[in-house]
Parts: sequence; structure tokens; C-alpha cells
Amino acid sequence: MRTKIVCTLGPASEDETVLRGMIRAGMDIARLNFSHGSRADHERRIGLVRRIAAEERASVTLMGDLQGPKFRIGQLTDPGVALQRDQQVIFSVQPEGEAIPLPHPDLLAAIQVGQRMLIDDGAIALTVVRRIDATTIACRVLNGGVVMSNKGVSVPGLKIAMSALTPKDRDDVQFAIAQRMDALAMSFVRSAEDVYELRRLIQDCGGDQLVVAKIEKPEALDDLPNIVRASDAVMVARGDLGVEAAPEEVPFYQKRIILTCLRVGKPVITATQMLQSMITSPQPTRAEASDVANAVLDGTDALMLSGETAVGAFPVQAVEAMARIAARAEASVSYRPRALLSELHETLADDDRTDHKTDAITTAAVHIAETVGAKAIACASASGFTARMIARHRPAVPIVCLTPHERTQRYASFMWGVAAVIAETRKADADTLFEAACDAAQRLGCARPGDTIVVTAGLPLGSGSGHTNVIRLMEVRA
Ligand code: PGA
Ligand code: MN
Repeated sequence: MRTKIVCTLGPASEDETVLRGMIRAGMDIARLNFSHGSRADHERRIGLVRRIAAEERASVTLMGDLQGPKFRIGQLTDPGVALQRDQQVIFSVQPEGEAIPLPHPDLLAAIQVGQRMLIDDGAIALTVVRRIDATTIACRVLNGGVVMSNKGVSVPGLKIAMSALTPKDRDDVQFAIAQRMDALAMSFVRSAEDVYELRRLIQDCGGDQLVVAKIEKPEALDDLPNIVRASDAVMVARGDLGVEAAPEEVPFYQKRIILTCLRVGKPVITATQMLQSMITSPQPTRAEASDVANAVLDGTDALMLSGETAVGAFPVQAVEAMARIAARAEASVSYRPRALLSELHETLADDDRTDHKTDAITTAAVHIAETVGAKAIACASASGFTARMIARHRPAVPIVCLTPHERTQRYASFMWGVAAVIAETRKADADTLFEAACDAAQRLGCARPGDTIVVTAGLPLGSGSGHTNVIRLMEVRA
């Protein structure tokens, strides 16, 4: 299977046998969701992933997911408050009597009469009918339900000037750095500037984590090309996106985000409710199988499981099902993200090509590999840039990335079809590198003696990113 799989860890996946099963079934990235669980939970899970991955000789990348500025209902005195359609209800920072606590003065100050407020991923909908004071509003219920403590609250279209990183997020960034996690996902990104804010924070704290921008606000779509450029990878966060925008818009946002990423070769993850029914059932629904396959056909690099592996009853089966569906989609005649890409190529403005030399070399390498029937495309890639630029063509054969950096090896876990191996590519002479590429392809099981592979490199070696300048055909020797 070429598509990568991200699994959210939780109570359902910290059993050693379960986690081992998930790794064997194809988990590439373990996601620790900082919205749930304690520090101790995350630390324990990180340790478990590292130990079992080492035993399995598998590379599993660790990604922390920052909660971000998600508004939540405060602590209710009752377990739940039932709301009926057309009923009036008061929300306040300092609730009295029947009022519901909403401990977000900035939200309550900015929201206006006539705006819609959604609770629990849109399950409950209200409209603001009256302002009572600066931090108290009256709403009418449009869609009833039971409000419970800590449920998420969103106000589609509401723009509040506040940092995308909360004090909790800042603490969690430090925790992730201390734990030497590989990547951080940022929630509710609005613009590229938000992404740079996280990058600066990581740098100031002495980290070098990869940054994944979660696209879950329609606002982010307005700055999408810049957000994609600012990030190492992007997530189509369909859960909140479907609340902030209408659910019927989600499929089109998904396609647009994936295409924008494909165009510049940035990895993209499609996330949320992919195999939702497998939380309680050992088999996916037909609709879910179609959704996973269609995300692959759209050109996603990675697929994500959330509740399915975090709290579900069938975590291993969910990863297995996802892997099966993805493999089938990749084998389909309609698997043609490349065709999308070549259409894009014709219409690309000049400055859309991240780097002309690397673009030319990698496009040619993919073409050559197909023409000569090569069994793999290998590249020397310090930063992962060349590997991404090969992967965006979605070649039929495996991509082997030789890199001296463990960070790049972890980054490859996000890239469609890329397997990374650590190799000293900077100081070696060119012939040694080409032989190392053959060895790596053999060790990974993609090529045998007598097979041809295509290798790209930047000579002289060690000249840095963006200097890929040669393509060599190598015959694999015994
Ligand atoms: P979440 O993000 O699971 O952290 O909310 C993903 C999404 O919103 O789809
Ligand atoms: Mn979300």
C-alpha cells in the first residue's frame, strides 16, 4: 500500500497487542490528541509506541495534535441540560439560575444577534436573539438536544482577533518538544501567519518539529496556497470543517485542498469519520469504503483514523480495513492523481513551481522509470523536498528516499509512496551513493539483482536542498 495511515491513540489502543496489530496493519503515524487525555496518558502511549515500533523494526512517526482555540461549554451543575426547539436559553460567562456557562468573554462579546451558534459538532443549533450584557446573550433553539459540560461550541463566520495558540497549546508544544515528538498539528489555522507563529514558538523552545496545518475553518481557504507553503503538511479536518461550513461543502473543500497540496508536493492527510461506524462494528459501511477510496482517488497522501482507533471496539480491524480499501483504490484504473497534476502543470503560473530544477528532474525521473520499467525511484534528499516532488507524480513504483536526517525520515511517513532510509548522502562520493540507493531498494524488497532503478541526486553531494541535478539508471547487482 502506498497511501499512509495516521491512527489516533487513546484508551482503545494502548494495549500492547492492539498497538502491535495496528503497526503490523500499516500505521505510519501515531497521533496524540492533546484535546483528550492527561500528560501521563500521552507519555505512556509515546513510550509504548517507541518500544513496540522498535521491536517490530517499524518506523512510526509521533504527531501531537494541539487543541487550539476551541470554545467549550463550561461546567454544568446538572449532568445535562435538555433544550427543546424554540425554547429560549441564556449563555453567560457568569451564569445565574438556568443560564448555561460559556467561559469565553471574547466569543460572547463578538457574537451578534442573528448569528448561529452550534454545540457538539452541530448536533444542537441556536440563533442569537438578544444581547443582555457584554458577556451574556439570549438564544432561541433551532435544533434541540442535551447540552453537556465541555461540549464544543462554534459560531460559523465569527472572526475573533486572538492567537491561534492558547496557553494550553503553548504548554503542549513544550511537552511535545521534551518528548522529542516528530510533528505538531495546529488546529483552527486561519492564515499562514498562524502557522509561522507556531514555527517561531517551536524554534524558541529549541524544537524542530514538523508543522501540520489543520484546515477546519472556511477562512483558511482564502489563504490556502500560503498556508500550504508555510506548512510541512496539511490536514483536511473534516469534522470541524463540516461544522464551520455546511457538510455539503466538505467534499469540494477536500478536493480543492488536496489539489493545492499536490500542485506543490506538500503531503496532505484526509481526516475524520472515515470509518466512523467501525467504532462499534467490525466492518465498514459501503459508504465509508467509498469515502476512503475516493479520498485516495482525489490524491490524498494519508488517511486518518480518529475515534475508530482511540476509543473504538475494533482498532486493528479499522486499520486493516483502511489499508485494504486504499490498496484497492491505488490499483484502480481510475487512480489518476497524475492526470490531475499534468493538467495543472499546463495551467501553472511560473511562480507556482516550487523549484524549476527539481521539478524538471523529478518529472523526468518518473517518466524514465516508466519507460525503462524501473522497479523503484530512489533519491538523495536531505530535506525531503526531492522525495515530495517525486511523490506528487504518484509513480507506479516505490520511492526510496536516502537521507542523513532522522527528521526527514519521519517526514517521509506523511508522503504517499515514500520509504525513507538513513544514509550519509553528504560526504559520500557519487558512486557510493548510487550503490547505496541500490542496496536500499533491495533491502526494502522493491528491487532484485538484475533490476533497474532510477536514482536522482544533487552533485556534488552535500550542496543542499534544491540542487538535484542528475538522473542515473542503475542496475541492481547481487
Ligand atoms: P479534531 O480535528 O479531531 O482535533 O477536531 C479533526 C477535525 O476537526 O476533523
Ligand atoms: Mn477539529
